[in-house]
This record gives sequence, C-alpha cells and structure tokens, in this order.
Amino acid sequence: MEIISKRSSSARGIVIAKSHAAQGLRDLFQVQLKDIYCAEKVLTKALLKMIKNATSPELTLALKKQLYETAKHVLRLEQVFYSVRTKILANQCAAMEGLLKEGEMLMEETELGVVRDAGIITVLQKIKHYEIAAYGTLRAFASILGEDTAEELLAETLKEKKNEDAILNNIAMATINSDAADADDR
Ligand code: FE
Repeated sequence: MEIISKRSSSARGIVIAKSHAAQGLRDLFQVQLKDIYCAEKVLTKALLKMIKNATSPELTLALKKQLYETAKHVLRLEQVFYSVRTKILANQCAAMEGLLKEGEMLMEETELGVVRDAGIITVLQKIKHYEIAAYGTLRAFASILGEDTAEELLAETLKEKKNEDAILNNIAMATINSDAADADDR
C-alpha cells in the first residue's frame, strides 16, 4: 500500500480532504443539498436587485414570478432535508456567489434599459443552468439512495427550473435581444 504524505500529495496536485470530508454518496448528497440550499437563499436577495434594474415589463413580471418560485424552492428543500433526516443547514455556494458577482458587474457595465435587461437574462440563464445541473444530480443521488420522497421533491423543482429557463429564453428571443441590438445602431 502506498502511503501518501500530506506534503507529497499536495505537491502532486492532490487536494487534501478536510477532516469532515464526505465518505460516501449519502454524505456527498447532503453536502450538495446544503450547497443548493444556500444558493437558493442568496439568489432570493439578488432577484430583488434584478427586479429594480429591469425595465421590460415582461422581464419584470418573469423576475417577480421567479422570486416567488425561489421562495417556494427554499421551502421545498427544507422538506427534502426533513425527508432524508438531515439537519437544515446552508453551505457556502461559491458558484452562485461567482455568478451573482458576474451579474453585479454586468449591471454596472450596462446602461439601464434593454441592454441591461439582456444582461440580466444572460446571467439568470447561467444561474438556471447551474441549478438544473445541481438538481439533476441531487435527484439522481436520491434515486440511488432509495430516498423516494426526496427524489420526487427534487424532480418537481428540476422541472420548474427548466421551465423558468425556457421563459427567460422566450423573452430574450421575442423582444429584448433584438431591441438591444437596435440600441447598437443608435
Ligand atoms: Fe454550489
């Protein structure tokens, strides 16, 4: 058996696990659950800011609906925690923080109006795809772990996330992208 010292493994690029690192799929499932729980909560606050910065009535309405949906998804995640007998906790989600930082920068770099609207949709669609990947993985893990209730709850949210993404796509395709392109011609 090869004995890997901390020093030699880190020198080879191997990440040293923390003392409380996940030991199996159930642990990993719980880690990911806490990650997306944090992501949803952080997103709720960010959506309020996006609503203030949106000008298109269609986009504003879609953002308000997403705010409501996100609050619902937080509550549903709490049901998932309960169903898998896990204490409700939020782990810092570095990806959501990064995406929201990108959103902040995009808003700072665009004038209020159609171009900023297009920027908001851009970042929100990136967020939706992150969430779709996260919920898809969590649902698959719940299935393997035999957690049927959690699987159903996660599948429900996954479906709604895909729908939110499609709505944003429709708004972008229908008006905002072409209006934003027209702004270039001015
Ligand atoms: Fe994350």
